[in-house]
Amino acid sequence: MQKDSFSKFKALLRRSHSIVIVTHWSPDGDAMGSSLALYNYLKKTGKKVSVITPNDYPEFLNWLPGNKQVVDFLKQEKKAMGLIRKADLIFTLDFNNFKRLEKLGDVLSQSPAAKVMIDHHQQPDAYATLYYHDVKASSTCELVHEFIVGLGGKKLIDKHIASCLYTGLMTDTGSFKYDSVTPQTHRIIADLLETGIRISDIHSAIYDTYSEHRMRLLGYCLTEKMVVLPEFSAAYITLNASELARFQYQKGDTEGVVNYPFAIKGIKFCAFFSEAEDKIKASFRSKGKFDVNQFARKHFSGGGHINAAGGKSDENMDATILRFVALLTEYKKELAN
Ligand code: 5GP
Ligand code: MN
Repeated sequence: MQKDSFSKFKALLRRSHSIVIVTHWSPDGDAMGSSLALYNYLKKTGKKVSVITPNDYPEFLNWLPGNKQVVDFLKQEKKAMGLIRKADLIFTLDFNNFKRLEKLGDVLSQSPAAKVMIDHHQQPDAYATLYYHDVKASSTCELVHEFIVGLGGKKLIDKHIASCLYTGLMTDTGSFKYDSVTPQTHRIIADLLETGIRISDIHSAIYDTYSEHRMRLLGYCLTEKMVVLPEFSAAYITLNASELARFQYQKGDTEGVVNYPFAIKGIKFCAFFSEAEDKIKASFRSKGKFDVNQFARKHFSGGGHINAAGGKSDENMDATILRFVALLTEYKKELAN
């Protein structure tokens, strides 16, 4: 845990007037929820602030308050560069390594602006001026809530900010079922509920938005593509580009697919591989002690958390899967724990 004092954060905020908030490539619910919660809060305190994402994010996050002002670096590079040039403070949320932002990461690493990291991923890089980092936090949204409260802003947490925070807390905890959920997480949820948010609406806005294609793609993954390897307590699913095209894949359509095999008794390690332009994107999830952050770092140029991590492979799908299955043999003892 690395948390600088609130007096330092307050002093930095006092002297910062143009603020930019950035989050990781392919932003998820926690990335957008935390960024937009902080955006709405800072705006209320009178700051000039904007959110820049490295690329686009799923449509089911478009309802988040503040969504309209988000600048997509891939689509609006000139505008984003202008904002970064003017910024005297950059918040980096839900990641801790500029490589997670592709080209936007290179731009930020060159920026002289002060940087604040708010994050809960393992092994943070040392690029920030101030840190609010805790791997034990369920989500970056939990940390942003703590951060706002620590700055004395609890009264400013309105329905808009609360719905952003609730989104990240819900999506990063599998709807409050992971071991990262603590009594404090539920105390935060209680506070958010006091603002009058409707959690059934938020749940539906995030989860009940499948297109028919997405639903059928999920069915296809489970009936045709899931490989179960009981001897390793593992299962994996692969999708190549033509399969994605067949189901008219849209960004976000494969989110959560990796978790389904956990419903099979005895499965403790799940992997999902999908073909992107020039690489294979990998997602890893585990139950219990098997550390997928280390696994992803060591073998798939990635990282994340102990029980949820991602990475990539530059080999083709067949070679990637051959390598993955060979690794299962190598890790057989750890997987049996
Ligand atoms: P997902 O499998 O949903 O893409 O990612 C799971 C977790 O691992 C998320 O917390 C995400 O931030 C992290 N993660 C995903 N891909 C990468 C990667 O390429 N590098 C690192 N360091 N973390 C990743
Ligand atoms: Mn997160």
